[in-house]
Amino acid sequence: MEPPAISVQGLVKVYGGPAPVRAVDGIDLDVAPGETFGLLGPNGAGKSTTVGVCTTRVRATAGRVTVAGIDVSADPTRAKAQMGVVTQFNTLDRALTVRQNLYHHCRYFGMARAGARRRADEMLDRFRLEDKAVGMTMLLSGGMAQRLQLARAVAHRPRVLFLDEPTAGLDPQSRLALWEIVDELKAEGVTVLLTTHYMEEADSLCNRVAIVDHGKVLVSGPPAELRRSLGAGTLITLHLADPDGLRPGLEALPGVTKVEPSPEGLRVLAVSADRVVPQIVAAALGHGLSDLAVTEPTLETVFISLTGRDLRD
Ligand code: ADP
Repeated sequence: MEPPAISVQGLVKVYGGPAPVRAVDGIDLDVAPGETFGLLGPNGAGKSTTVGVCTTRVRATAGRVTVAGIDVSADPTRAKAQMGVVTQFNTLDRALTVRQNLYHHCRYFGMARAGARRRADEMLDRFRLEDKAVGMTMLLSGGMAQRLQLARAVAHRPRVLFLDEPTAGLDPQSRLALWEIVDELKAEGVTVLLTTHYMEEADSLCNRVAIVDHGKVLVSGPPAELRRSLGAGTLITLHLADPDGLRPGLEALPGVTKVEPSPEGLRVLAVSADRVVPQIVAAALGHGLSDLAVTEPTLETVFISLTGRDLRD
């Protein structure tokens, strides 16, 4: 078997100070070459800290991380040459043009002038930024700036790409445009580690995901496998004025696997939607049922069933 593109072993990070925070509490991960791996979890789960250690921004308290086989803490310069990094923060040089941002990045990573110019032009073309090339970076929209950050991150041909909440704050159209580009990079065999708290993003982009909470991996696997692990094919969300007392009756219905409180009222997991929905409606009518949604369970459902909390809480 090929060695992992990213290997995280026994990672612990404690931020010091008067009230120390155990941000990462023993994380182990292996990401295979060419895989797109997602770290999914709520704010504060320790995702950015994990990526921070992988990308040499954060020093680990304990544990070992290798990227493309290189120990990131023992040999950060060589490790950095193998990785591209995009975060939700704009780290572009705002005083330069779009082309200059790409050119200087290529120069920084050791390309000669002519090679860097060629590569910058290739990136402008590939990321559909040609018409912005001589424009000032500070004038780019959020979506365009993020596209340029991605172009810059891959300009030195890294084998591993770290995307830390890359679409946070973007409008849906820019988000989709970025997903398309990530899909293209995947198809070229780039290994991607993505952090997100958008479960659709993890679900649609990742071959495997790890759901993290309080600095620990709760569960990991292919998204479809994690959803199947719920043992339920249908999620019924009930909007109720008065959920009190309804739960035991619903739990007793054949085909219902789980009932839990939700911000709307109650969430019901069932083996399938067959026959059970009318019975649920009949039971809920006396409890101020105002609306209901019948959907497939998502990775968020997996998170809720593991923690009892919403990802956005
Ligand atoms: P996530 O990316 O999942 O939102 P983070 O890794 O950013 O989580 O944060 C994990 C925990 O570590 C949080 O409690 C956060 O407040 C804390 N934290 C993050 N960065 C620092 C820092 N530089 N100093 C102190 N605490 C930090």
